[in-house]
Amino acid sequence: MVYLNGEFIPKDQASVSIMDRGFLFGDGVYEVIPVYSGKIFRLDEHLKRLQNSLNSVQINNPYSAPEWSDILHQLLGLSTESNQSLYLQISRGADISRKHSFESLTPTVFIESNPLMPKTKSELEMGFRAMSQPDFRWQRCDIKSTSLLANIMYSQQAKQNSVEEVILHRDSNVTEGATSNVFIIKSDTLLTHPTGKHILSGITRDLVLESAKHCHLNIEESTFTLDHLLMADEVWISSSTREVMPITQVDDRLINNGVIGQHWSHVYDYYQGLKNA
Ligand code: PLP
Repeated sequence: MVYLNGEFIPKDQASVSIMDRGFLFGDGVYEVIPVYSGKIFRLDEHLKRLQNSLNSVQINNPYSAPEWSDILHQLLGLSTESNQSLYLQISRGADISRKHSFESLTPTVFIESNPLMPKTKSELEMGFRAMSQPDFRWQRCDIKSTSLLANIMYSQQAKQNSVEEVILHRDSNVTEGATSNVFIIKSDTLLTHPTGKHILSGITRDLVLESAKHCHLNIEESTFTLDHLLMADEVWISSSTREVMPITQVDDRLINNGVIGQHWSHVYDYYQGLKNA
């Protein structure tokens, strides 16, 4: 079952107009929210980011926070899975003709939920490979937009090269991954690109920073270069579905001789505690 514009209906019966601007232009925004043991994780934070994305592109939020919460819980109630990943998207809606500029339209709201199976600690301890690429995306990466052509191109490159993620760099500074935020550890300091227009402000990013602080790491939200990353003691990526994942190889370079760092292990454990709190 999915939610579409006020109704809960089977997925194969859900359809939208060919004039929907989400279809024609990718004119919409979205969120991905994890659900653990039936509880929506950090809903307020996700709804706040959704509001920021909507404001940036001038789409009216069709629902209040309690209404969102009610709809999401109703959808979750239709599934027996305890761990799920909610996908919700709001497009600007359907117009009568295709033009770039827009009128005030009724937004199209689509929500679905899929089983979420985060990797276990022992699976993560195998380490993951990444590749680096110049960041050719636009300058409003802070908007969680459904226009994801650049991210799609990078993710396909990752798949074709059998790596977990593409790590992006702009003007020699590492920004983020194609679908994740990026962290490096040098000695006892964690570095990650500052929030702003060049990265998506990840909800998991904030939780990783909270966890790292708790694990007595120094936190520096500042830029670092690809060379710094290649010389780091540890490299991690984070996202709502991957949580915090250790990267042990970037391009041809092994990170810390391919050995998982102890800081990752501590931060991972603390993060699991936040999920279960
Ligand atoms: N950066 C990009 C480009 C992403 O696509 C994502 C998640 O999809 C993230 C960062 C991580 O965001 P979050 O932790 O909120 O899932």
